[in-house]
Amino acid sequence: MTVNKSGKKVFEKELEDYRDQVWGCARCNWCQNQWGWSVKSAEFSEICPAFHEYRFFPYSGMGKMHIARALIEGDFDYADAPELAEFIYTCTTCGACEMNCQRMQDKEPLKVNEALRARFVRDGVGPMPEHKNLINSVKSYDNPWMQPRTQRDRWAKKLPVKDIGKEPAETLFFVGCTTALDASMSQVARDTASILLKAGVDLGTLGKKELCCGSPIARVGDRETFIELALRNRELLNNTGVKEIVTSCPGCYRAVKHDYPEVPGAAALNFKVYHTVEYIDRLIADGKLTLSREIPLKATWHDPCHLGRHCGIYDAPRNILKAIPGITFVEKERNRDQSWCCGGGGGARTAFLDFAQRTAEKLIDEARRTTGAEAIVTCCPFCEQNIGDVLQRTGDGMKLYNLIALVSQSIA
Ligand code: SF4
Ligand code: SF4
Repeated sequence: MTVNKSGKKVFEKELEDYRDQVWGCARCNWCQNQWGWSVKSAEFSEICPAFHEYRFFPYSGMGKMHIARALIEGDFDYADAPELAEFIYTCTTCGACEMNCQRMQDKEPLKVNEALRARFVRDGVGPMPEHKNLINSVKSYDNPWMQPRTQRDRWAKKLPVKDIGKEPAETLFFVGCTTALDASMSQVARDTASILLKAGVDLGTLGKKELCCGSPIARVGDRETFIELALRNRELLNNTGVKEIVTSCPGCYRAVKHDYPEVPGAAALNFKVYHTVEYIDRLIADGKLTLSREIPLKATWHDPCHLGRHCGIYDAPRNILKAIPGITFVEKERNRDQSWCCGGGGGARTAFLDFAQRTAEKLIDEARRTTGAEAIVTCCPFCEQNIGDVLQRTGDGMKLYNLIALVSQSIA
């Protein structure tokens, strides 16, 4: 999404490396609003979930720039505002502020907020207590959900997937902690593996040896733990000898493909990285997968922020949805790089559940009122958890699907 202009890797930049940027903030508010000509209504004209919820500038991208400026120049200290950690950690890291700022002002308000979080962790005033549980779980169990490592491959029972530690394979399925360990998500892992095997992919997994990618740790600002994990993962993955890695989690995808190269002092990745939707889109285009079974459904796509704005993948999931017979595809009013975040990312769901769920409620409302769709389709376990919880709690009739489930039904 953004260009690193200092020459330093992102994970070695200090807050002071952003001094010129934060002084250059024009207070223009593009970071809070839909980009110019994409606005269709006042109701859906905003883009920053945190500012929309709290209606106070420190919660916006612009606010982070000015908090950073004040801390860099010594005009402000942690004790001056007890809410400071809340301003910093309610950000869902959706990237909308940075997407729109880059178009007009060429600044990086999300990177600034991540540098702020790193500063908070360094100085012992961050992350939020709920994030510490998550970090401790990753340190103890190699996953953020306090699940024993032995459970990591239970989703794969009776599936003919290779164990890459025992026999070589060309393609590694990097499952991700939530997909592998959350019982409500493990069908996504089973469907993904079954689809890839059906298309003739020579597929393996790391089984119980897979580690957390570190994305949740990076996002809450614990750089030391993230860098250690990124280096372990890079060595583990490079040693598999695979040509390509496929993952169904946008957080893992972003971490391995874009964050690991920003970690100082590590070897290059010797494989290509794909998200499942990119990979399946290509299999369909190459005639290796055929979607033939009709699914009569009016559906809209929710762009996961870490797949869309962070990694630029917008077309592949739409191509797949449109290729499924019977699907009528409709766009939400805010879509692609102007999509409304589900509220679940960046540690916001972990520490500010009510805010995260209100953000998802707004997404569901927009989907219903601007498309008339019966279903929201997405492909991120965090989006699914957050939107799914709201639908379950409210008894809302809107359906929610992982795109992989629809592909699996259509090729069956
Ligand atoms: S869009 Fe960029 S320059 Fe404008 S107020 Fe937001 S952070 Fe500052
Ligand atoms: S990343 Fe998203 S939630 Fe965070 S400040 Fe920017 S627009 Fe707001």
